Amino acid sequence: MPELPEVETVRRGLIPAIEGRVIAAARVNRPDLRWPFPPRMAQRLTGARITRLGRRSKYLLADLSSGETLIVHLGMSGRMLVSGAVMGRFHHDHPAPAKHDHVVFDMEGGARVTFNDARRFGAMDLIETDRVEDHWLLAGLGPEPLGNAFHQDYLVERLRGRMTPIKAALLDQRVVAGLGNIYVCEALHRAGISPKRKAGRISAARIAELVPVIRTVLQEAIAAGGSSLRDYRQSDGELGYFQHDFRVYGREGQPCRTPGCCGTVTRIVQSGRSSFYCPQCQR
Ligand SMILES: [Zn+2]
Repeated sequence: MPELPEVETVRRGLIPAIEGRVIAAARVNRPDLRWPFPPRMAQRLTGARITRLGRRSKYLLADLSSGETLIVHLGMSGRMLVSGAVMGRFHHDHPAPAKHDHVVFDMEGGARVTFNDARRFGAMDLIETDRVEDHWLLAGLGPEPLGNAFHQDYLVERLRGRMTPIKAALLDQRVVAGLGNIYVCEALHRAGISPKRKAGRISAARIAELVPVIRTVLQEAIAAGGSSLRDYRQSDGELGYFQHDFRVYGREGQPCRTPGCCGTVTRIVQSGRSSFYCPQCQR
């Protein structure tokens, strides 16, 4: 499931193909993904120029010259494939239409962006650009973890008195937007905090330390995604999924990587989701 760094990598990979360019033709091959598409989506997109491709949490936001913004969520299995000419250079032949190619954008200049989503938990919607922050998918979101509004005083205040485990508190999208299971596990490990600790019982000093740790974990993953982008022209044009070396996530039973720690990475289930952590160095 793509998390914030994967979505940011998709955004950066799409920019050369679509930003500043007109959508010559949009094709919508079914009426819905997780939810119905907005009325007349293909017509509303065709002929519009994408003036800016932004991101909020795990949503891509394509501002259009028509005054609307296309909101895209990759869901569980959504993939973006780029083919044809990008930045005047030809990269990939357009692939043969595949099952689950639900939306296809043919850009002025020859690039094609194909949205493929086998499980159909993805979503697309259109809203006036002025009102995008009020869209029901975005309205309740907390600050961006890499933005200025997410800072130490904010997080300390937000978690004060909360009796939920810190793992659940950081996954709460109203507290901080876009953090998912993988990077919360990684951040808690680096901060030496057990995922089971009640958020409100952790000292303010240790909560404050979490903020730069969360930023570092995300920035390292985005950097890994950036390296994967440099290779994508040799692969199949798919954006956003890349190999990344995790310290605890998916490493149950393997030795902890904290220097000097002899612990073993352990998996527990919290709120129905796996938490990976080291009981030795995470307290
Ligand atoms: Zn350890």
